[in-house]
Amino acid sequence: MASAPSAEVLSKLTPVLTKRWLSPEAWKIDVYEQLDGYAALRKAVEYHPDEIIAFMKESGHRGRGGAGFPVGMKWAFIPQNDGKPHYLVVNADEGEPGTCKDLPLMMNDPHSLIEGIIIACYAVRAERAYVYVRGEAVHAARRLRNAVEEARAKGYLGRNVLGRGFDLDVVIHSGAGAYICGEETALLDSLEGFRGQPRLRPPFPATHGLYASPTVINNVGSIASVPHIVLGGADWWKSLGSENAAGTMIYSLSGRVKNPGQYECGMGITLNELLELAGGMADGHNLRFWTPGGSSTPMLTAEHADVPLDFDSIAKAGSILGTTAMMIFSDQDCPVYASYRWIVFYAHESCGKCTPCREGNYWMTRVYRRILSGRGTHEDLDTLLDACDNLLGRSFCGLGDGATSCVTSSLKYFKQDYLDYIEGRRKPLLNAADLVGA
Ligand code: SF4
Repeated sequence: MASAPSAEVLSKLTPVLTKRWLSPEAWKIDVYEQLDGYAALRKAVEYHPDEIIAFMKESGHRGRGGAGFPVGMKWAFIPQNDGKPHYLVVNADEGEPGTCKDLPLMMNDPHSLIEGIIIACYAVRAERAYVYVRGEAVHAARRLRNAVEEARAKGYLGRNVLGRGFDLDVVIHSGAGAYICGEETALLDSLEGFRGQPRLRPPFPATHGLYASPTVINNVGSIASVPHIVLGGADWWKSLGSENAAGTMIYSLSGRVKNPGQYECGMGITLNELLELAGGMADGHNLRFWTPGGSSTPMLTAEHADVPLDFDSIAKAGSILGTTAMMIFSDQDCPVYASYRWIVFYAHESCGKCTPCREGNYWMTRVYRRILSGRGTHEDLDTLLDACDNLLGRSFCGLGDGATSCVTSSLKYFKQDYLDYIEGRRKPLLNAADLVGA
């Protein structure tokens, strides 16, 4: 049975983006409007677009997609009076293993995203926005399309939005299920109808993005936070988080926890506190390792469970906050096998554009298969580190860099587990059939 969290830890739950999730049918525009919906838009259009951008800068709001780039600063990069169309592209291609915060948000509260889009487009003077939804998430795309139709019918979209003299349309675009299309420039290529592969930068999307025009690309959570920040104010948003990390974050807990799911708290909560909110570790399991932000962030250990979960603190601990997808592993899980599964994923999802990632991940799966089938050698560990050395910083995009995280961090903290397979103390997890080609 799950133990109840203490009152102190319970008070750390801070529903902002999730506050409407338990309201029946909050995805319908009438219900949304009754729950303060579109009040932020009405407030925002009373200000000049430049004031909205300045306000977002002041709020300290940082992107929720993984990189944590300041949202207001990104908006300010869009050149004005350049005679070109401007675009907003929302990255809803949530595909990082362990990550599950944008999909429930789009399902439960799609209008908060649409409202955030309208405010963002008003600020950067964009007349068209695209939401690029992960191909498998057919249900989320359908719900968003309904929300767009409802918003259009109420005059929040279309010509002369709210009578303020600007036009806006939103297109919901379904991807085709490629993880690489979550990389912003690959997403743009995919949106334009090309094969989704990352673009060389510079030029950056702020000046040469979609159809070579100035484009803001923001994550779902980054944009859905905007109406709340506009209504609550910059100081309120800052007060919810920690230094250099304003606001709340939806932390997704999965794996060996009693109550996996999404927990929204102020930035800076710790894993131990989140585990308490989630009822603790599953029965019979003790925390051994975890990811702070999905499989592309270096794994941490039980020693790090009291590190504040914000951008800077996690970086100091040697990892990345990423998508705040906390995959929790116990003393009954094998870090070598977990790393292998992630490398298989990266090898499968590599777009093939650059050699380090295309070849490196393929070779690492072979090395892992050897080790996990009991045929590994001590040199294999050097081979893994050498492969990572040739991927990190030498890959064309972040997928290649991210793939190295599980390898280097598992070797850093759990080298003995690798040696146990190599030196025959641990039963092989893979059999001969898995060794084809290894
Ligand atoms: Fe493609 Fe991987 Fe190179 Fe990125 S790092 S461009 S995913 S091959």
